[in-house]
Amino acid sequence: MSSQSKPHILFSRDKIEARVKQLATEIREDYLGKSPLLVGILKGSFVFMADLVRLLDFPLEVEFIRLSSYGRGRESSGKVKVVQGLRSEIRGRNLLVIEDIVDTGLTISFLLDYLRKKKPASLKLCALTDKPSRRQTPVTIDYLGFTVPDKFLVGYGLDWDEKFRNLPDICIVED
Ligand code: 5GP
Ligand code: MG
Repeated sequence: MSSQSKPHILFSRDKIEARVKQLATEIREDYLGKSPLLVGILKGSFVFMADLVRLLDFPLEVEFIRLSSYGRGRESSGKVKVVQGLRSEIRGRNLLVIEDIVDTGLTISFLLDYLRKKKPASLKLCALTDKPSRRQTPVTIDYLGFTVPDKFLVGYGLDWDEKFRNLPDICIVED
């Protein structure tokens, strides 16, 4: 595979839009009146987060956290660090973490443990995609967009070496 590889569509923009609407409906039911703090994991969640929050028509706040785990390659190192933390007070807040993809689960498990120590009132996870075949540690996903096969995905925020985040569809890169 080279960076010349052409991505092909797994989930089209229309399919994503419909699914994000359904997720927003579920999240609205659970969080209306709870003034949640949505925590997006940079960079991959930024497109999903932007679409999702515009469908949530009630008071909420948005934060971002930046983690390092993947280098420039495709394999999770399993070693996760918070590179850019949260500015908002976490204690007593209803936190909803927004992730692009749960793969081995190592990144999100680390983050949920990290956030739990800050004593939020509640802590849930919304993930756009889930690749359960690669899981190394159990993860509960409270709101899930799509279950995906063991392929490398790009688009709709997901990158390959920082490329392809701007594709409107979720795509598979393969030769
Ligand atoms: P985990 O720690 O669960 O293995 O890795 C999660 C992170 O790895 C995701 O947030 C994402 O940044 C990256 N990742 C895992 N699988 C893929 C994939 O198929 N495509 C892309 N672009 N990133 C992935
Ligand atoms: Mg990510």
